[in-house]
Amino acid sequence: MKQVVEQIELIEEEVIELRREFHQYPELGFEEERTSRRVSDYLSNLNLEVERLSGTGVVGLLDCGVGPTIGLRADMDALPITEQTEVSYSSKIDGVMHACGHDGHTAILLGVAKVLTKLQDKIRGKIKFVFQPAEEGPGGALPLIEAGALIKPQVDNIFALHITNKLPTGVVGLQKKVVSAAADEIDLIVKGKSGHASTPQDGIDAIVTASQVINALQTINSRKISPYQKAVINLGTIKGGYRRNVIADKVKVTGTIRTTDPELRDSLPTMIERIVSGVTASQGGDYQLDYRKGYPVLINSTKLVEDLENTISQIPYLEQLKFLELPSMGAEDFAYYLQQVPGLFFRLGAADINSNYYPAHHPKFNFDEDALKIGVALFIYITLQRIKDNPTVF
Ligand SMILES: [Zn+2]
Ligand SMILES: [Zn+2]
Repeated sequence: MKQVVEQIELIEEEVIELRREFHQYPELGFEEERTSRRVSDYLSNLNLEVERLSGTGVVGLLDCGVGPTIGLRADMDALPITEQTEVSYSSKIDGVMHACGHDGHTAILLGVAKVLTKLQDKIRGKIKFVFQPAEEGPGGALPLIEAGALIKPQVDNIFALHITNKLPTGVVGLQKKVVSAAADEIDLIVKGKSGHASTPQDGIDAIVTASQVINALQTINSRKISPYQKAVINLGTIKGGYRRNVIADKVKVTGTIRTTDPELRDSLPTMIERIVSGVTASQGGDYQLDYRKGYPVLINSTKLVEDLENTISQIPYLEQLKFLELPSMGAEDFAYYLQQVPGLFFRLGAADINSNYYPAHHPKFNFDEDALKIGVALFIYITLQRIKDNPTVF
């Protein structure tokens, strides 16, 4: 225990510096060239086996012989937001900002790699450090997994964390099962027939038809699914028509469909298409529906939650493990990893209660850097806990 804490103390400043460096040079999804080079150089300097996967992805392997393989994942991408903080290390890239804390995730995981490298004579197993592009979209997890991030060696468990200002520093949030929703997308074109407003009998009004479709889709929640289930059906844009005295022949509607229930998710495309098809047919119109599956439901391993529950108090700096009752309706592509292997996704509290803080994706977003050390300790602790031969390390 003492040795681990000493190592974490030694690395704390370096993790903060790394985070500030990443913060100054934010890069958008699949464009993380500088970040990924920095990460792979850092891991190579630690003598890890380093592989570049699916463009800007980096996977480092610390091989300490026979034993379980633990995966730890960080996302590296930033957002197309112009930073409005006044910190000395604010973004040097116009219109791009680390407004979701992924700079912190990347720095934490590099710190973890360094500490675990120092402790390697106590480890029996392998640790895979997965640095992933494009979590904010279009999604870096799936291509990384398809490129083999979870095999050779096969990962037994994988863990990730996300910095959050919804919890104070010192608190880690954890859902016992469902963490976040699946987020799918629809693009709908309602087709009618154009004509002069004075002769409605000769046209098919796509605007009236689209409005009926939109209202009917909202009856899915109230009439088509169990009161114990819920879906978000948000139609966020609608475009159509030419001028006030022309019957519109086309309306385009786009939306996001979210649910935390994988079975309900699978049944929604059919439910939605049936309504779209029936309502447009009733008006003599037609439609084109593109339903795209996005990130799946993120589900923590209940077994791993139980394992952790009994021993969490040993993690240094951590004041409280808070079980979060409700899942988030946001989406997170770590879900793809947990479809393959059991794992956990943590919320790392990083709100400094003594200062103003802003939510993720806000141009003034920042977080309390004292949380970085807690993230490092959390990852190290969980990893060592899974490497069963070493109960004495802590
Ligand atoms: Zn985000
Ligand atoms: Zn994020």
